[in-house]
Amino acid sequence: MTYLRSISVRAPAKVNLQLGVGGRRDDGYHELASVFLAVSLSDRITLTAAEELRVTVGGPRAADVPADASNIAARAVELLAKRSGLHPGVHVHIDKHIPVQGGMAGGSADAAGALVGCDALWNLGLGRPELLSLAAELGSDVPFSLVGGAAFGSGRGERLTVLPVGATTHWVFATAGFGLSTPAVFAEQERRRRSAGVPWTADGVPSPLMSRKLVDALAAGDTASLADALGNDLEPVATSMRPQLTATLKSGTDAGALAGILCGSGATIGFLVSDGHQARTVAQKLLASGTCTSAHIAAGPVPGPEPEEIITTGENG
Ligand code: ATP
Repeated sequence: MTYLRSISVRAPAKVNLQLGVGGRRDDGYHELASVFLAVSLSDRITLTAAEELRVTVGGPRAADVPADASNIAARAVELLAKRSGLHPGVHVHIDKHIPVQGGMAGGSADAAGALVGCDALWNLGLGRPELLSLAAELGSDVPFSLVGGAAFGSGRGERLTVLPVGATTHWVFATAGFGLSTPAVFAEQERRRRSAGVPWTADGVPSPLMSRKLVDALAAGDTASLADALGNDLEPVATSMRPQLTATLKSGTDAGALAGILCGSGATIGFLVSDGHQARTVAQKLLASGTCTSAHIAAGPVPGPEPEEIITTGENG
């Protein structure tokens, strides 16, 4: 009898409660002021020892996710293997639920899940600082995806300060069958800044600051003040690229949501609601409005990825 040891990890998406975007730095990244919240809309990553590294993707959002070495979860496995002097023989299976190109850091979540999962699968026992430094090499949002909860991110979003949260927040996340490319949205913002004749480089645009009002509302569990303080500098850019998003935002607030906000660089719209009951009402009304094709109910904060061990018998299919 063959025994297979797998590690399964739930990898949560994020919503930016605040996304302040400064100018473009010489290295191509933008200075950001980002308040992240990890939410219960998650992918599940299962890692099983195999001869070679391979990736399979299933679940409702599998389309458009590469099932090869370019998948960021595979890149995370390779990076960790290289750093540890190991062969990256792992079958990575992603059960994909997070919207793709949705601004919810779905790829970053999978990368963080793969780091945590391989650390457990290979019994490496790496500490948080080491995993965080690998995460930052993989992408700006991967460190937060590893930490979970709520945090303020500065720099390109990777320098994190954990934030206190006074109460669970409830959300509806709406998608309309299209995504937005993060580089394309940043490029459009720069084009708009240049054509308006305003500064667009990091030395010309003041560094964005953390919103005190938002962070205080989050700590106090004051959902009404939090709704008032939500803000994303990329929202006007994304809505100009995809005007349909404006109709989605209006439908959600007409349906009773406290506020709507573009998630990251889009194209998902997040609606903050008062409780789980209102989430169901808003989700139903949003779908009935025809301004979106899916509406996910979620809550946050949730912790970052945590490994769960599974032992099965049989072949590694
Ligand atoms: P962010 O919020 O971090 O800017 P996003 O949520 O808008 O990112 P993702 O869903 O992470 O965007 O995907 C961006 C692109 O990365 C996709 O178009 C896809 O081709 C590629 N990709 C690679 N690996 C993955 C993965 N595991 N999950 C999703 N997309 C992936």
